[in-house]
Amino acid sequence: MNQPDPARVQMRPPVAPRFEVPPTVCESLAPAERASIETQIRALLVREDAVLVAHYYVDETIQALAEATGGHVSDSLDMARFGHEHPATTLVVAGVRFMGETAKILNPEKRVLMPTLEAECSLDLGCPADAFSAFCDAHPERTVVVYANTSAAVKARADWVATSGSAVALVNFLKDRSERLIWAPDRYLGDYIAHATGADLLLWNGSCVVHEEFKGRELHDLMRQHPQAKVLVHPESPAAVIALADVVGSTSQLIQAVAAIDAPEFIVATDRGIFHKMQQVAPGKRLIEAPTAGRGATCRSCAHCPWMAMNGLRGVLQALETGANEIRIDPDLGRRAYRPIKRLLEFSAGRGDPFLAGDA
Ligand code: SF4
Repeated sequence: MNQPDPARVQMRPPVAPRFEVPPTVCESLAPAERASIETQIRALLVREDAVLVAHYYVDETIQALAEATGGHVSDSLDMARFGHEHPATTLVVAGVRFMGETAKILNPEKRVLMPTLEAECSLDLGCPADAFSAFCDAHPERTVVVYANTSAAVKARADWVATSGSAVALVNFLKDRSERLIWAPDRYLGDYIAHATGADLLLWNGSCVVHEEFKGRELHDLMRQHPQAKVLVHPESPAAVIALADVVGSTSQLIQAVAAIDAPEFIVATDRGIFHKMQQVAPGKRLIEAPTAGRGATCRSCAHCPWMAMNGLRGVLQALETGANEIRIDPDLGRRAYRPIKRLLEFSAGRGDPFLAGDA
């Protein structure tokens, strides 16, 4: 890895935004009730000319239903891209709010519904548009790069949007143009990018409540118990965890790694919702959760995002039945938010890069 000048990797915490992290409560349905709801959803998807797209981190019943009904399971940008290419006029997005917003930004002519609008993201909540805009205004010489896990208003303030799968390549490209950058909101991912590229990054002070809980020392102990296991880590994790990884990558890249690497066991440091897709692509392999407990543990998430867990089949049904939880974005804001996403899409297409995908 490149070693950035430490003075260049700065952290300027904004006024800390306050938000509540809800408890993780997963939907519980008896088999008969679940079957009944799924039957109703299938019929409504047809009636409403709708398609269900789901993130890797939502409950496996929703992931399975999306795939069984011709929908898609992926990361946020690829979910939006799938929705763009699919002929359905309504997209039902099972994920968190910024994912619904991204789908709407890329598909302004389509109706975008969500099982709940309460499903937020600590990165999005930790980067309010007004405070972030003031931060950017204070550093007008810097190019603004924001992660996909941000609101439409924050994207509209950015020059570029990046995903975890594309960020290193994009920052290297900007560094080669001698650009100095603001990176927001995830400080761990920003730190990882700074070390990978040596670029001059000014970091926003946000974090993901799921990934920041993974523990380096406890991971090291677990690795000793499973010497054959390969370690897969999402780069929103702390540096001590990333340092132990065999593969650091976006959700899509980690899923590909499980399928591609010839090993019987994998320790996985990302939301455990991803195990459903990993088990699909590599059915014979053992997946082990990376530890979140140990010294300094807060266990606000315990490796499962509390906001992703808010997505349930009842919410999908209600959205389709009533049109509830529609994502609406002011058209001018949507156009401004689309510009930095389009730049990423063009940048990735220019590189022939299949990994423009890859978010939380
Ligand atoms: S897992 Fe982290 S980054 Fe993903 S939605 Fe939840 S809080 Fe946000």
